[in-house]
Amino acid sequence: MIRAFNFRKYKAPLIVLLIIAISITGYFAFFKRSSTQLYSKQYKKIAGQCTHYDIYADFNPENKSINAVQTVRYKNNTNTTLNELYFYLYPNAFKNEDMTPFPGEEFSRAYPNGFDPGYIEINYIKAGEEELDFKLNDIYLQVPLPSKGLKQGREISLEISFKVQIPNCLGRFGYGEKTFNICNWYPILAVYDENGWNLDPYYAIGDPFYSESSIYQVTIEAPKDFIIASTGEQVEVKDKDDTKKIWTIETGLVRDFAWTASSDYKIASTTVDGIKIYSYYFHEGGGKDALKSAAESIRFYNRYFGKYPYENYSVAAADFYIGGMEYPNLVLIDRTLYGGSFLEYIVVHETAHQWWYGLVGSNQVKEAWLDEGLTEYSTIMFLENKYGKQGKQAYDDIVKSRYHFFELSNPLDFRVLRALNEFEGWKDYDALVYARGAMVFGEIREEVGDKTFQKVMSRYLEEYIYRNATTEDLIRLWEKETNNTIDRCFFNKMLNIMPDDEKENISAA
Ligand SMILES: [Zn+2]
Repeated sequence: MIRAFNFRKYKAPLIVLLIIAISITGYFAFFKRSSTQLYSKQYKKIAGQCTHYDIYADFNPENKSINAVQTVRYKNNTNTTLNELYFYLYPNAFKNEDMTPFPGEEFSRAYPNGFDPGYIEINYIKAGEEELDFKLNDIYLQVPLPSKGLKQGREISLEISFKVQIPNCLGRFGYGEKTFNICNWYPILAVYDENGWNLDPYYAIGDPFYSESSIYQVTIEAPKDFIIASTGEQVEVKDKDDTKKIWTIETGLVRDFAWTASSDYKIASTTVDGIKIYSYYFHEGGGKDALKSAAESIRFYNRYFGKYPYENYSVAAADFYIGGMEYPNLVLIDRTLYGGSFLEYIVVHETAHQWWYGLVGSNQVKEAWLDEGLTEYSTIMFLENKYGKQGKQAYDDIVKSRYHFFELSNPLDFRVLRALNEFEGWKDYDALVYARGAMVFGEIREEVGDKTFQKVMSRYLEEYIYRNATTEDLIRLWEKETNNTIDRCFFNKMLNIMPDDEKENISAA
């Protein structure tokens, strides 16, 4: 995610950047391989054991609701027998006025027409013909498994029937004047890792999500006049009757499925390296600009880090007050930013997330810096490549100065690597996760040079594609690939990780 208002004060350099825009040059047609051949070893390995979601959703914009049936085929890849499965029901974070996932001061921006509840209701859960009991607890759904649980290596298929109520809310989940933002909307499996089930609250800061790459088949029934922008490939759109259309969508390995819908969308598209890029928009000039930025950044990251292995990528204007938000193959951009000077930065940032979050995932609750820091630095690298010296200046103006402003405010805690609930708010989160996080990569690149940086980060992509990486994985990779030129001490210093004794001294002081 990127919040537009976090760097409004850096407007001047960005405008300068736009004025001196020069077009990207140097197109090399070396991406001839089809996407199914890319990372095929990694794809086969994960696809052979991942979760499959098959969702049938009947979208009713009149009632602001969705009735859906979802089949989840889950294989127990853990090293233990599971007696229950846990799903997140994120829409329930929008149920109560005093619990909404927005900082208090932003409440009126999220709900310009006053609070409106959104939620998800589970009608039933079945395993075969057997109806299962389940427990609902806020945003968690606990499904005890029949008989003696699910042994390691065994599979289970669950059918979940549910209803979603969409709130009048300009966040990730909700609707505004123009769009429905249907994100984090269905029961999604929590991650079971070495810490057991990861069950975290829907925090008001950051992107509090953590999921595993899965394969989706989604069918959406929607009124005929609606256009849908979504994760995956829309393989068929056909009439159901005089009033409705049926959209059939299939995905590759992705860690979530999101969509937006509007009866007013205009669409522009182009093709880059065989990838179809779409811009869903309302503002004519801005729509074309968003398409251009998406295409240019996909092309740049394809060459720098490794190719985006999906058939398409969509940038959708949305009633989304926060700025930009990433989902697999789809990003939401606040439609009021179209035609403004931040659009390029935001689109490029969200596009970089297709690599860092989309392809290489991470626990965004516990280690938010890992995808946000790298995404922010990738954005800077795009600007540097496109605008030369002035682009490079953005690193000082947008990244370093954000962190230094924070330093000047005499904060007590400089730790970058900490969970979302350990940040005070957006101010320290932005300075540490985005700015200092980006500086970690900026300092490494300065130290090892562009060639080695590119080599190691491409290796990071290849090694962790479709999986979740950790800070520890990144540190080990850099130590190994650079023979400890970039080592743990370097990361400790950059991430402001304090040795235990130092920590004690501080708490005693
Ligand atoms: Zn972001």
